[in-house]
Order: sequence, then C-alpha cells, then structure tokens
Amino acid sequence: MRKKIVAGNWKMNMDYQEGISLFSEVANMVKDEVIGNQQIIVCSPFIHLHSIASLAKESENVSVGAQNIHQEDAGAYTGEISAKQVRSTGAEYVILGHSERRAYFGESDELLAQKVNIALTHGLIPIFCIGETREEREAGDFFDVIKTQLEKGVFHLSASDFSKIILAYEPVWAIGTGLTASPEQAQEVHAFIRKQIEAKYGAAVADETSVLYGGSCNPKNAPDLFSQPDIDGGLIGGASLKSRDFTDIVKVFN
Ligand code: PGA
Repeated sequence: MRKKIVAGNWKMNMDYQEGISLFSEVANMVKDEVIGNQQIIVCSPFIHLHSIASLAKESENVSVGAQNIHQEDAGAYTGEISAKQVRSTGAEYVILGHSERRAYFGESDELLAQKVNIALTHGLIPIFCIGETREEREAGDFFDVIKTQLEKGVFHLSASDFSKIILAYEPVWAIGTGLTASPEQAQEVHAFIRKQIEAKYGAAVADETSVLYGGSCNPKNAPDLFSQPDIDGGLIGGASLKSRDFTDIVKVFN
C-alpha cells in the first residue's frame, strides 16, 4: 500500500530559533498521531536542517527535507548548496520543481531533471512538484502542461529510481492564494498523473507512487481532499508554520 504523506514547506520563513521551536512542537504533537504507513516530512530552510534532523532522529516520527539543491556535485558556485551537503546534515528529502523556483528563479524542466538526478545520486528523495498556472487552467491546457512537466522532469528515470520519488500536484493558482482546488478538480488531475505513470512504468509502480496535493491546504479542506482515491496526502505551505494546523492535517489520516 502506498505511503500517506504530509510534508510541510516552510519556504523562507522562521529564523533559526523559531524553526527549532516549531519543529520540536510538531515532533512532540504528532508523536502519538502517526499511523503505520504514514510519513511526516518537514522541509525547512538550509539553516535549520542539521539541528532539526538531529531532533528528528530522536523523535523517529518526522523526517526532514530541504527546499532546493544545486544541480552540480561541488565546485565554484558561491552561495549554493549541493545534494551531498544537504544529505550530510541528516536530511532525507528535497522539494524540486516548486512553482516558486520555476517562476522566480527560472528553473526549467531540463535543469530540474539534472537536480532530480543529483538528488538521487546522493540518496536524497525528491518531492517533485508539478502544476498549471491559472491561465493554463482557464485555457484548458492543464493536462498537457502536467504531462510535459512529468516527461521532462522525471520520466527519464529508470523504474527503480522513479519508484523512490514522491510527486506533488500543486496548481499554481491555489498556492498561497486561499483558493483550493475542489476535491473533484484535484482528484481528476491526480488520476491523470497516475495514468501517465502507469503508461510509462506499469500499473505496479503507478499504484505505489505517492501523489500529494498542495495549494492552500488546511485542516478544514484536508479531510475531503485526502479522502479522494488518488490523493495520498499534502504538501503544506502556510499551514505548516502553525504547529496546531500542521498536526491537525497529519491527524486527518487517523
Ligand atoms: P500553501 O503552499 O499551502 O501556502 O498554498 C503550498 C506550497 O507552495 O507548497
């Protein structure tokens, strides 16, 4: 049975002390709430990774991820951070393909494919984000957009590498806007994503791949979203910054 996953994306929020407090609170609050095949992941800024990964080791219920890596192994890239460096902090995951990286930092599908490869080489599991803009949804192009993002970003992987990754469908128009995709809209796209995986890698791989929903997900709308057959949890931005909200979303699976 595929994993049910709730992942927090803190984005560029929380100073060092605030982040440590938030993580400790979350780890403490979810202690008795995590069910068998559920995974909780907190993706923090780089500055928190080592400390919270050490705390995560003690709690065992929460894993830690980064929000970006550089596509090269090492070298003269002032200000950048490599997959190997992230992995050496104890972090196990990395968000790649987030629409904010695509839009504000010009990250192309080709660059993202390189980042996916280097992440896997160093034992980091990509949480790979895909999703259409408002214009693309209104134009009715969104299935094509999503198919292309999958094909160019992750479908070059072997079946064994692909089966390590997590996908997140994040409609850009729903991120940080308070506009959530309806459970039916999200399910429609999640089912489409699973179909594409099946066509490329076969039914067994498609059935085992966790596909998360992201975009203004909160404790109120999470129960309806997560009860859809192809939605396996959420990638949570704003609501991951409040321990109570994040924990309430984790508890949706109980
Ligand atoms: P949001 O962000 O929950 O604040 O909409 C989700 C994301 O960007 O991953």
